Amino acid sequence: MSKSPKEYDIVIIGGGPGGISAGIYTARARRDSLLVERGVVGGQILNTEWVENYPGFPEGVSGFDLTQSMHQQATKFGLETLIAEVTGVRIATKDKTVKTTQGDFTARAIIVASGSERQKLGVPGEVEYTGKGVSYCATCDGAFFRDKAVAVVGGGNAAITEALELVKFASQITVIHRRDELRATKILQEKAFAEPKIKVLWDSVVEEILGETFVNKVRVRNVKSKKESVIDVAGVFISIGFKPNTGFLKDILALDDTGAIIANEKMETSVPGVYAVGDIRSNSIRQVISAAGDGATAAVNAEKYISG
Ligand SMILES: Cc1cc2nc3c(=O)[nH]c(=O)nc-3n(C[C@H](O)[C@H](O)[C@H](O)COP(=O)(O)OP(=O)(O)OC[C@H]3O[C@@H](n4cnc5c(N)ncnc54)[C@H](O)[C@@H]3O)c2cc1C
Repeated sequence: MSKSPKEYDIVIIGGGPGGISAGIYTARARRDSLLVERGVVGGQILNTEWVENYPGFPEGVSGFDLTQSMHQQATKFGLETLIAEVTGVRIATKDKTVKTTQGDFTARAIIVASGSERQKLGVPGEVEYTGKGVSYCATCDGAFFRDKAVAVVGGGNAAITEALELVKFASQITVIHRRDELRATKILQEKAFAEPKIKVLWDSVVEEILGETFVNKVRVRNVKSKKESVIDVAGVFISIGFKPNTGFLKDILALDDTGAIIANEKMETSVPGVYAVGDIRSNSIRQVISAAGDGATAAVNAEKYISG
């Protein structure tokens, strides 16, 4: 159903932890606030069953329960939520327009919290075993692989950082890389090569992730010799890049070379009155807690901007 255009003080794009946290602050500050989410409110963390590193939950909490409680809290303070896709943003001298599949909304400030998507390998077993051995985040899930053999797919800084993070937990880490040299910085390479638990499988690509209830093997092909092999692993960490959800911004904000939005410590972007928070922000550590913190910072600064 289409909604007639309405003016808001603040429109928040994206209903993950960053956007919802911003909404708690803007709504509680009595600012007329709208959160626009294209899918299910909660964001990426809905893809994980158990979050063990968000403060206040010594036994852990499900991604669903955590974000639904956050959203209830924001709604209690008056945050409005619209399920629609943001298709564009127009910046005029003062007021800004957020175009959505359910109509246009004007805002005095915009908080972009649209997150990023992890690049997928696109091999059989990847979707089936996500959360059952397939992970895209060692900081999030590394502790579940204590004393187990795991694979890391990728050869850039992110992949090698993931492998080094996993040294604390896993018994052995096989880095599967499609080329014969890593793209990661020399310093990271040196650390990885000095670590006895890490070995690199060069010139190799994952063909299939196998398992029963959980992952137990990965089938790999050498791109030069074409020979296939099967490695026993309990986990596969896929680290082949991120795709920031910035398509709807089209040349409006300054982005870094990965496509993430550049923002300063106040979460201000290159356009006054537009803020970026969470995984969409350049150099984000891509965690729920950092997204929530960014959201609070942006909300407080957006409030000052509007009052300005
Ligand atoms: C499998 C998995 C496990 C994880 N485990 C942990 C963990 O244990 N601990 C931890 O701290 N972090 C974990 N993370 C990372 C965490 O989920 C993210 O850092 C966090 O969700 C980022 O929040 P965000 O609000 O910035 O973005 P997101 O959660 O990505 O939310 C962005 C939202 O914006 C919406 N959106 C995008 N484009 C548009 C548009 N054009 N219009 C409207 N809406 C749009 C998306 O649908 C999405 O709901 C995990 C991530 C994954 C994928």
